[in-house]
Amino acid sequence: MTRGTAAPRSLKDEAPRKEDRDPTAAGGESARAESGGNPGAFQELGLHEDFLRAVADMGFTEPTPIQEQAVPAGIQGRDLLGCAMTGSGKTAAFLLPILQQLAENPGKGTQALILTPTRELAAQIDEERKALTRHTRITGAAIFGGVSMKPQIQAFRRGVDILVATPGRLLDHFQYDYARLDGLRFLVLDEADRMLDMGFLPDIRRVLRHLPDGPRQTLFFSATMPQPIVQLSRELLTDPLRVDVERKQAPATGIDQALFPVPARQKPALLMELLTRNEVGNAIVFCRTKHRAKRLYQKLEKAGFPSAQIHGNRSQNQRTKALKGFRDGRFRVLAATDIVARGIDVDALDHVINFDVPNVPEDYIHRVGRTARAGETGEAFTFVAPEEESDIRSIEKAVGRSLPRRRVDGFDYKGEPEERFEIPVGERIAKMKARRKEERGRSSKKGKGRGRR
Ligand code: ADP
Ligand code: MG
Repeated sequence: MTRGTAAPRSLKDEAPRKEDRDPTAAGGESARAESGGNPGAFQELGLHEDFLRAVADMGFTEPTPIQEQAVPAGIQGRDLLGCAMTGSGKTAAFLLPILQQLAENPGKGTQALILTPTRELAAQIDEERKALTRHTRITGAAIFGGVSMKPQIQAFRRGVDILVATPGRLLDHFQYDYARLDGLRFLVLDEADRMLDMGFLPDIRRVLRHLPDGPRQTLFFSATMPQPIVQLSRELLTDPLRVDVERKQAPATGIDQALFPVPARQKPALLMELLTRNEVGNAIVFCRTKHRAKRLYQKLEKAGFPSAQIHGNRSQNQRTKALKGFRDGRFRVLAATDIVARGIDVDALDHVINFDVPNVPEDYIHRVGRTARAGETGEAFTFVAPEEESDIRSIEKAVGRSLPRRRVDGFDYKGEPEERFEIPVGERIAKMKARRKEERGRSSKKGKGRGRR
């Protein structure tokens, strides 16, 4: 049954062949679902040749379960309610049905709007859209804050087919006449539960009021279904097909998870020890606060580990650079807070490290889902200070088993770091005030005119 030798591009030549499927299973939808050992092929989902080529170019050899279910129904125009954990391939699951319909029936002006919680996700979805449409003339753009409005205004004016947007920046545009989406036929909500967590629900409702009333296909994705999301999905969806990708509470298989009990003050040293011993290759390291992510980054840099930081205090440009450098392998560690890093996809990520234990089990599952995506393997390590043990218990409950605990032989658990890791907030504010005062002093001496915005 393995087709492992087929290089992606030869998929095209194989397209008409079906004999590696059981010919007697002609009407065998359920057989397929049950056997689980006979994954479908993209060729069977009803996609145009241009998209099959693109998918093959991207190295996707067979659809993930959510794609297999969502794409054919989506192409038929059915509303979808998708519940699946991170890394299950939701992006192509909502893009492909829209793209196929756009290819069949192009329409005028912007046809599809995809709402997503963070800038990084918007950029990532737009990248995937580009890759999937490279053999077609379908156009698109990403709309998010922190960057210039101009190219985004152009995108509205040109009426690109697909807009991927964060709610805040989209609302900024909606104040102006050029931002009309009168021809909109498709709406996607991606990571709806995260948008709720981030307080975007009112913004989403505001966005919805700007959309035309006409018939519309809505594709709604959420990893969890808290009450307000159930409510929103009821309002937005008509007779949706519900696609639940089997929620094995635990994150994707292939992830080796372990706990590292360690006193809070020794967490930075433990991380550096693991890096030095090469027990950790490259890693996204999740911290509880922006301050901790920044401090960790500084410490690692000082110790000579090429690192970058990504959190809410960094500008969009800085975040993009950090992510790109990490993806390109220039940085070994990406110190992050999870509001920013959730949903971000990095190929060949060796490790996810929870430098701090997430308070909510869902966050644990999402963070850990960053590694070992789409069937690869990876490791997820969690540093646990004694005061974090109670959060571990609820996580173990959620994943349905106890997680193995590891001790690093030869590591000095009793050590005392030379400098404090966190600087207390009072001291930080005092320092900031002093710096501002100094800057004010300097600029009044120099007079104005450095033109810094
Ligand atoms: P989700 O939105 O569910 O978290 P993504 O759509 O971001 O997941 O996909 C996760 C990763 O899996 C991405 O790197 C994507 O390119 C890859 N991927 C998606 N579909 C497939 C597929 N059919 N085969 C192989 N890899 C895939
Ligand atoms: Mg996603």
